[in-house]
Amino acid sequence: MNIHEYQAKELLAKAGIAVPAGYPALSVAEAVEAAKKLPGPLYVVKAQIHAGGRGKGKFKELGPDAKGGVRLAKSLEEVEAHAREMLGNTLVTVQTGEAGKQVNRLYITDGVDIAREYYLSLLVDRASGRVAFVVSTEGGMDIEAVAHETPEKITTFTIDPAQGFMPHHGRAVAYALKLKGDLNKQAQSLARQLYEAFIANDCSMLEINPLVETADGKLTVLDAKMSFDSNALYRHPEIEALRDETEEDPAEIEASKYDLAYIKLDGNIGCMVNGAGLAMATMDIIKLNGAFPANFLDVGGGATTEKVTAAFKIILKDPAVEGILVNIFGGIMKCDVIANGIVQAAKEVNLQVPLVVRLEGTNVEQGKAILANSGLAIVPADNLGDAAQKIVAEVRKKAA
Ligand code: GDP
Ligand code: MG
Repeated sequence: MNIHEYQAKELLAKAGIAVPAGYPALSVAEAVEAAKKLPGPLYVVKAQIHAGGRGKGKFKELGPDAKGGVRLAKSLEEVEAHAREMLGNTLVTVQTGEAGKQVNRLYITDGVDIAREYYLSLLVDRASGRVAFVVSTEGGMDIEAVAHETPEKITTFTIDPAQGFMPHHGRAVAYALKLKGDLNKQAQSLARQLYEAFIANDCSMLEINPLVETADGKLTVLDAKMSFDSNALYRHPEIEALRDETEEDPAEIEASKYDLAYIKLDGNIGCMVNGAGLAMATMDIIKLNGAFPANFLDVGGGATTEKVTAAFKIILKDPAVEGILVNIFGGIMKCDVIANGIVQAAKEVNLQVPLVVRLEGTNVEQGKAILANSGLAIVPADNLGDAAQKIVAEVRKKAA
């Protein structure tokens, strides 16, 4: 789960980390009120969307010469003008995709006089199974470009979870940032605070880009991106409460209500599968047959008729879906129960696209009989390869 910059900074401030003062705003009037609470004379008006690259982003409605999603303002009037231009409009950045994201919230912050920008992030490194620090003197810009063009400017190391954060880790961060004197000390304690906040909040990623050195020699978090491990949210209701559903895919929110693991993809073949491994194999074999999956969907081990119906509805809401492949192994779940669910769901949603079903496992013969006698145009398949070939062929036939 992701949160907004202003929420991340509030969490970091609670952990004792220095962030510029600021207030979120949902309207132009609130933006001006927020600015009035700040000392001025420099303010920053920042679009709050779950995507980075806002500064260099472009508003769809404003033309190529308009400013991006992070704007400096030198007066309350300028804050007002920027807020008016940004709210309700669509910001396109390197991370949003072409469709962009509508800006519904702003963050009005105290403008910082920047001497230097750095990069600092923590993330769960799956290869080592540890939390990794990624540190670079090249902050503010696209870290992927730095990694590609000048990888020697990025320092990475991991923390042994049994040992935790040690003083030498702090020194390694400060050294990688090439900081001297008091700034070096600040970097060491900041690194420790960030690590502790990362662990305490069960983060999966915490990215500070840029971390800045101010003109008066202080390290400050200028931008913060924070993601959390969804599996740990149950023990952080205060973080769960920060969820902004307008930033999430509506189909994925609907799926989570039925405990379905659904991820939207770009293809045209909807998939309904039980078990994550089987779902992955199903997507692979669709690709092997020259087509692309429209989604990942794991209905889980104990899917009911309600769950199967909900899954069908979610798959069919995606206008790109031109056919559905159901691939179920009836282990805990019986094939006849699944077959009934499929028939009921197909009738309820008045299914118009080809449907190929591959069932295997407990009560498979009863299940196949239910599908065959349903009066619906369901194409049965005998195995995974057969199923993938059939759905790809059905979709092509319909398109031709
Ligand atoms: P992002 O583009 O989404 O990553 O948004 P950031 O919050 O990182 O802001 C982008 C850039 O705007 C930063 O790298 C800074 O150069 C600039 N910026 C943001 N806040 C301030 C500020 O308080 N003062 C100044 N001078 N520049 C700022
Ligand atoms: Mg940034």
